[in-house]
Parts: sequence; C-alpha cells; structure tokens
Amino acid sequence: MSGGPELGATGAGPPTAAGPPTAAAPSGATEGCGSRETAPCYRTGLGIDAHRFAPDRALVLGGVRLRDTHGLAGHSDADVLVHALMDALLGAAGLEDIGHYFPDSDPKYAGADSVELLRQVVRLLHERGWRVGNADAVVVCEEPRIAPHRSSMKRVLALALAIPEERLGIRGTTTEGMGFPGRGEGILAQAVVLIER
Ligand SMILES: [Zn+2]
Repeated sequence: MSGGPELGATGAGPPTAAGPPTAAAPSGATEGCGSRETAPCYRTGLGIDAHRFAPDRALVLGGVRLRDTHGLAGHSDADVLVHALMDALLGAAGLEDIGHYFPDSDPKYAGADSVELLRQVVRLLHERGWRVGNADAVVVCEEPRIAPHRSSMKRVLALALAIPEERLGIRGTTTEGMGFPGRGEGILAQAVVLIER
C-alpha cells in the first residue's frame, strides 16, 4: 500500500508544525472522552525501536546527523529515536503501527527523513483532535554519547511534535556492556508520550 489512506490524503504539502485541534468536537472522539461536555481526555503510549549498526551509513539520531559513517541500517534514515516516538504516538492514539503507514516495501520511504514522517504522524493525531502533552525518550547505546547533542535534538523534535522544548525529554544510557547495545551491535530507543484532547 502507498502510505495509508489517511496519510495519502494529507500528502499534498508538509503539515504545519503548529496547529492545535480546533474547538469543534474532534472526529473520532468517543462519547464521554474528549468531547466538549467532558473533562479533557488523556492517553499514554509506549514506543520501542532498535536498529543494527551499518558502517557505510550516516548516523542520524533525533533528527540530527551525528556522523557520515557507522550509522544504522534501515529502509529510511533509520533514526531509531524518532521511530520510537512515532511508535508511541501511534499507540497512544490507538492507530496502526509505523509499518502500516510507512511500509519499508515502498521505495518512496527509502532513505526517508524520519522527522518528516514524525510530522506526518503528529498531523494524523491533530486530525483526530489529539495534541501532544509531553514526550520522554531514552536512547540505549555505548556510543555515541547523547548529552552533547541533546539540545539540538530537542530543538528539532519539539518543533515536529508541536510542543515546547521543556515538554520533551531525551536521555542516553548504556547497558554497561550487556546485551546487543552493550556489544555495540546497534542502538535501542524507547519513548513514552502523553496525548490529550
Ligand atoms: Zn526504526
């Protein structure tokens, strides 16, 4: 399939980064949750992703190109942090998984800028009346160190999520040599998000 019916309908131009839902009752709002007569409705979502290192690929993490080699393998730019965030957002809204909207069998997404895909996911949520409350993500790897790049990543991703930077957490940690991140085979990322309407 080519990107899913929802995204296909919005593919005419880049979604705006801002754009909180309108005051009108959001489409798809279930009764008693998120309607104008009731208290705000909140949902949480969990996202997990992992990619294997590939010496001949650039490393793109959190929307920031960290180096030209020793990146991650994947159909898109393999931005594992952004994919975890997308996964969490889609899960919170009860939508399909990333592969449904951005199939890796579709050449359109070869080398795709994952931040652009994140914008499309946020647009998908906005269309359903959801806005992002906050997001928190952890990148698990022995290297590179995340801290020196955190502020750059936050700037890029907060804009894509349409939230202030203080509502976005990004941290790095290691597994002290244990497991696949510890052996330097790849990078793992996890994210949680809160969405509201
Ligand atoms: Zn991924």
